[in-house]
Amino acid sequence: MTIVENMDVGIMANLKEKVIGIPRAMSFYHNYPFYFGFFNDLGIKIVLSDVTTKQTMSEGASLVVTETCLPIKVYVGHVLNLLSKGVENILVPSLQSVDTKIYNCSKIRGLPDLIRNVVKKPFNMIEATLDKSEKNQGLYEFLAECVAPFGITDKNLIKKASKAGWRCYNNFHVMTKSGMPYSKALSYALQGKVVILSEVKEYPISIALVGHGYNIYDERVCMKIVDKLEKMDVKVCSALQLSSEQLSEGIAALGHDKYWANEDEMTGTAGHYLKDNKIDGLITITAFGCGPDSLMVERITRKAKQYGKPLLNLTIDEQTGEAGFVTRLEAFVDMLFRKKRASIVNKINISDNDTEYKPNTDIIETIS
Ligand code: SF4
Repeated sequence: MTIVENMDVGIMANLKEKVIGIPRAMSFYHNYPFYFGFFNDLGIKIVLSDVTTKQTMSEGASLVVTETCLPIKVYVGHVLNLLSKGVENILVPSLQSVDTKIYNCSKIRGLPDLIRNVVKKPFNMIEATLDKSEKNQGLYEFLAECVAPFGITDKNLIKKASKAGWRCYNNFHVMTKSGMPYSKALSYALQGKVVILSEVKEYPISIALVGHGYNIYDERVCMKIVDKLEKMDVKVCSALQLSSEQLSEGIAALGHDKYWANEDEMTGTAGHYLKDNKIDGLITITAFGCGPDSLMVERITRKAKQYGKPLLNLTIDEQTGEAGFVTRLEAFVDMLFRKKRASIVNKINISDNDTEYKPNTDIIETIS
C-alpha cells in the first residue's frame, strides 16, 4: 500500500467515510461481483469510475507511451475519472501470479508502478498484492491489504466478508453459465438475485468469442460486439459459459500447459469451442501490442486449421474505426451462413443419391 506523505483532506475523508474507488477496467470485468459482496459486507462504500468513453481512452493514452496496449490506456483513463469525481482512495491491485508459476503479463504485474509514475496527482493507492508464486501470498493476504487502510484487521471479519464476496461471485457465474448475458447477470448478482432463464432463444449460427473480459465486455472498447452479433442472428458463446475444468481441458487440447494467468479466456476458451460441433466459427479479440495474446492467437490459428473451423482474428486499439470493424464481422457471419446453407443442401443431395426413388403411392390411392 502506498500512502502519500502529508495526506490531503480528500484522502483522509475517503478513509474516514470508508470509500474505495474501483476503476471500471482490467480485472474489474472478472472480480467485481466478488469485490461488491466483500466490501459491502465490511461497510466500505464502492465508487466505480464511469463507463468508458472516447475521453477515457484519449486521456489515458495521453499519459503513456504509444506502444502500451489499449486496456492499460483505458485503465489509466479510469483512474483519472475517479480522481475527477473526488475519489482519492483507489484500489490498484498488484496481481503477480495466481498459482505456482502462473503469471500475469508484465503490464498487469507492473500496473501500480505505472499508475504511480504517470498519474501525478496526490491519492492513496491501495496496492494489494496477489503473488502465489514468489511470495506465497494468496487471496486472504490480498484481501487483508485491501482493507487495512480502513483500520480493518480482524481476520474473522475479513473471512466472513470474503464468503459474502464468493456468494455474489458464484451467483453471477451460475447465471452466465446458464447463458445469461454478462451485464444482465451482473445486475442480478449485485441485487443478490439468481435468475435462470426459462426460455433460451434458438439461433441458426453460433460463434465463440475468444478474448479477455476487459476487451469483450467493455462496450466502448469492443464497440458492443456481443449486441452486434446477436442482431445478426448469431448466438455468442464465451469463457463465461464454461467451468474451470472445461477451460483447463481447452488449454490441454491446444497441447501445452497453462502459463499466463488469464490464459483461460484465450486458449482455454478456444481449445474448448474448437472441439464443439455446435460452434460454427471463432472470433478472437486482442489488443494491439499484446505479447501474450499474439502467442496464444498463433496457437489457436494453427489448431483451428487442423479442425477446419473458420476463425476471424480482430485486433483493437484506440484508433479502431467502428465501420471497418462491423464490415469484417458482417463478412465473417455472412460466410458462416453460406457455409451452413451449403452443408444443409449437401446433406439433402447426399440423402437423395443414397436412396432409391419410390413413387408416393399414397397420393395415387387417394385420387383413385
Ligand atoms: S495481457 Fe495483453 S492486453 Fe492484457 S494487459 Fe497484458 S499486454 Fe495488455
